[in-house]
Amino acid sequence: MEPIRPLFYNIHENYKWAEIPTYVLGGLTAMLFLWGVWRHVKRWRLGKPEKIAGALAERIKAFLKFGLFQGRLASDFYAIGMHLAIFFGMAALFLGTALATIDQDVTYLMFGFQFLRGDFYLGYKLFLDIFGMALIAGLALAFFRRYVLQPERLKNLVYPTFPLDSLFLLTILFLIAATGLVVEGLRLAATNVPWGTWSPVGNALAGLFSSLAPGTLKSAHFLLWCVHGLMALAFIALIPHSKAFHLVSSAISVFLRQLEPAGALPTAEPAGVAKIGDFTWRQLLQIDACTWCGRCQEQCPAHASGYALSPKNVVLKLDDQLLKAERAKGNGAAQAAPVAPLHDDTVISAAELWACTTCRACEEVCPVFIEQPRMIVDLRRYQVSQGNVDKTAQAALGNLSRYGNSFGKSDRMRPKWTQGLEPKIKDARKEEVDYLWFLGDYASYDPRAQEITKVTAKIFQRAGVNFGILGEGERNSGNDLRRVGEEGLYEMLKEKNLLAIGQAKFKTIVTTDPHSLNTLKNEYHLANGNGLTVQHYTEVLDELIQSGQLPLKKKLSGRVTYHDPCYLGRYNGVYEPPRRILAALGVQLVEMPRNRSRSFCCGAGGGRIWMEDTPGIKERPAENRVKEAVALPEVSTFVVACPKDIAMFRDAVKTTGNEGKIAVKDIAELVLEAMA
Ligand code: SF4
Ligand code: SF4
Repeated sequence: MEPIRPLFYNIHENYKWAEIPTYVLGGLTAMLFLWGVWRHVKRWRLGKPEKIAGALAERIKAFLKFGLFQGRLASDFYAIGMHLAIFFGMAALFLGTALATIDQDVTYLMFGFQFLRGDFYLGYKLFLDIFGMALIAGLALAFFRRYVLQPERLKNLVYPTFPLDSLFLLTILFLIAATGLVVEGLRLAATNVPWGTWSPVGNALAGLFSSLAPGTLKSAHFLLWCVHGLMALAFIALIPHSKAFHLVSSAISVFLRQLEPAGALPTAEPAGVAKIGDFTWRQLLQIDACTWCGRCQEQCPAHASGYALSPKNVVLKLDDQLLKAERAKGNGAAQAAPVAPLHDDTVISAAELWACTTCRACEEVCPVFIEQPRMIVDLRRYQVSQGNVDKTAQAALGNLSRYGNSFGKSDRMRPKWTQGLEPKIKDARKEEVDYLWFLGDYASYDPRAQEITKVTAKIFQRAGVNFGILGEGERNSGNDLRRVGEEGLYEMLKEKNLLAIGQAKFKTIVTTDPHSLNTLKNEYHLANGNGLTVQHYTEVLDELIQSGQLPLKKKLSGRVTYHDPCYLGRYNGVYEPPRRILAALGVQLVEMPRNRSRSFCCGAGGGRIWMEDTPGIKERPAENRVKEAVALPEVSTFVVACPKDIAMFRDAVKTTGNEGKIAVKDIAELVLEAMA
């Protein structure tokens, strides 16, 4: 006897009246599902236009890696195991149901042929049993994590009913999977077909029911078939009306993710975002796609330090406003007006916005590629347009406007650090050079950083690098100013820098400042088409060492650790050059637990370096980082590659009482030591 899928088993013979309602309910479910999807699309359409780059192949690749296989959860075995089991379990059961429907209602009805037969049918049965069990295992992991482990990041302060919503969804999914297997067990017990072993779980359950009378088996089968079917249809109808929609919206968000360099903030209205409809449609899609996983919050240095900010809560509160705006529009409001203004302490407070260091740790771990820092900058832009800048940052912004640097010093003071250096540092506007060194404010004006600037200059000179500077023609690059939300002033500084850069003849721009590197490389659009590159000094030093142009005479010893600056690593992917330099110097690099893309911010980015700490915070991010380094066995040097880091971490070593235990050194200082 050839194995074949029974058509409407038991129903067709004994409960034929139930067939029509099944199709009616199926149709209703599809309508409810599509209506729900349309509501989400309407929500996204409340936003402003945004163009999306094509790059179909890249998008498909990313979708498979991050959408289907949850690539961003790879380091979290529990999370990835749970998500893959639930997702593929559900997908397989959905596919199985779809195949059964086609087999019964299309190929059989239209052509009198069933493809679910023979070996294919046996494989199909085995496949569904395995994935049904995978779904149950994934759900058990989800139950355990949410209701037993209860990690802090999963707590939801914006939607207080969230634990119940979640419980409902997990329970209904579990019941659908479990009743599906029991229905199969009852059918196998009643039919006793020889291929029952191809459904190992159903077959084992059939063994439990074997003592029941055939009539009882059929009645129980019908009853449970109805319960199973009704729950499955209810779940499908509920998907777009519940949190389960993130299955769909997160996949779309991953597919339509930003493909521009992470360090390039899209050009936006300087007036920023005042109400939810001022975000673009893609930002609204991202807000809608949030899975509420809290991974962003867990990585956020501001949150860890006790500031008011949680990137998860920002997204959830925006999501709440999006729902309200949609309802308002549905109720006939003229536009998606500010149902509640976003900039209100009951929605997003100024304290939350100004706490962000724009370190991008949140975006880096978000499984659905939500760009939280971009949203925060858009909201800051509105605050700035209203003259509501963080009080403690106002002095720096005033200096930037008046002097073109945050220190409030004159232009002529900028190249003062070169005094006494021999040979003289060239002015790249007057002499042609290979490297134009863009210094940035800290390297130029901060006395601690100036020492390292001189060290770097000595290294370049001794390695025979033909370099020059812009002297008093340089201005603050504007990277952090732009992240504060001061778009207008940023454009002015950029214009002045571009004028000065335009007067110089060079091949490559080099900078020690990762923040300047970021905006010069990604936002000044210098390199367009003319082969011009922008490099961090660690990249240049690495190249010089590898090519033998920078001779290292002495091997250094000892154990050091290295801090990846956010704007060098996470924003621009420069992780290996500093590590190769350290290896060439001979020191032993001991990584901190949070390294490379998981590096913990020093707290200076996004204009935070100009703002004072909020009273009552737990500890500053730089202090948290220094403690992480001090906990490493026998590490006596904390190596940095950013002028701001020198200031941040040397202070933090003092305030944490770790003087004498660890020394903060710039990587250039170690290179010069090895050249001696
Ligand atoms: S960019 Fe950094 S500081 Fe800002 S919300 Fe994200 S993780 Fe927090
Ligand atoms: S923004 Fe991303 S990381 Fe944060 S809770 Fe939402 S999905 Fe998770």
